[in-house]
Amino acid sequence: MSDLPLRSQLAVALGRTAAKMSRLAGRGDGSVIGGRVGLALDPELLTRLARDRKLVLVSATNGKTTTTRLITAAMTPLGEVATNAFGANMPTGHVSALAAAPDARYGVLECDEKYVPMVLAETGANVVALMNLSRDQMDRAAEIWLLAGKWRKALETSPQSHVVANCDDPLVTWGASGAKSVTWVAAGQHWREDSWCCPECGGPLDRDDQDWRCRQCTFARPRPDWVLHGDVVTAPDGRSFPLTGLSLPGRANRSNAAIALAVVAQFGVQPEQALPLLAQVKSVAGRYTTVEHEGRRIRLLLSKNPAGWLEAFDVLQPAPGPVVLSINAQGPDGRDTSWLWDVDYRILRGRPVWVTGERRIDMAVRLEAAEVPFTVVDDIEQAVMAVPPGHLDVIANYTAFQNIRARYGRVV
Ligand SMILES: [Zn+2]
Repeated sequence: MSDLPLRSQLAVALGRTAAKMSRLAGRGDGSVIGGRVGLALDPELLTRLARDRKLVLVSATNGKTTTTRLITAAMTPLGEVATNAFGANMPTGHVSALAAAPDARYGVLECDEKYVPMVLAETGANVVALMNLSRDQMDRAAEIWLLAGKWRKALETSPQSHVVANCDDPLVTWGASGAKSVTWVAAGQHWREDSWCCPECGGPLDRDDQDWRCRQCTFARPRPDWVLHGDVVTAPDGRSFPLTGLSLPGRANRSNAAIALAVVAQFGVQPEQALPLLAQVKSVAGRYTTVEHEGRRIRLLLSKNPAGWLEAFDVLQPAPGPVVLSINAQGPDGRDTSWLWDVDYRILRGRPVWVTGERRIDMAVRLEAAEVPFTVVDDIEQAVMAVPPGHLDVIANYTAFQNIRARYGRVV
């Protein structure tokens, strides 16, 4: 980093000071404000900090924080890895992450879907991992077909970047097809309601369990290099590796792990070396964490959008295990809760369900329509104390999750 121009060094130093002050003031980890100060002083700071490093960008609607964490863990044999572990996934967060690890030759950066073209242009990332695109925060997120189009265009003009993409998601496949070289991973797609139309021509997609193709044009699922089937992943050389040792639960995390294995293979880290490192990741920013409270073991699951709900349902304790649903609709959650109607909640029948959060009435109406019995409570504590000692799953969207996490312990 001593190679940086003086102005950039000053930008980094002042950014760090701002971040430190923000932390001291108890306003988060400071990576956003630190990056903002740095970029204000040197608008090319991200480009300068990225120079001479091998970088991975990770983007998707769901799973990007977890996959970033998994890739970072699996790259540790290569040396120090810079990463935005706190989920600050815009350029300000990227600047902070890289500035905090000046000697790291590698970096793994979670990237907000909208910022992929900009960050790709500024960093010239070596590998771009793209997992899924689905509806999310409808009042503020860009339309996902537009996003896929922007990815495609950006990758067409970034021939240096190799893409690792989930070929089970047609929209991601279409976006990734702009790249010069792609590793296709059959990582699965549980939520399919956003991919019944061909992104190329608008025609209907014919789908079965494994394959998909357009009925009207030649757009079809590419032949995968890596295949996830159940809990086994098969590498391009035909060797198979069980993912049963993962600590993170559920099929969504097996999918994230398959992508991580394909990404680190680009840097020469083989699956047998990577898998024990993936297994060491037990929770990500509080997700999947179990906290103890009055004899209850409360497990926190984050669910921000319809695809995320399916992931959470997949890892619930078997019925009749109790579950609390907590829904807010603040800025980071998206103000529009109409997406609750996209999710099939009938899977919750047969277990005690408590509903809380600012938008508990919206959630209650939805469950009523799905004929799922439930109890509305004003506060999560009421639900926690109503269940007998033992396991309790809590599914919450973003700010509700953060509130609960702050209340019962910020174990990461
Ligand atoms: Zn088509």
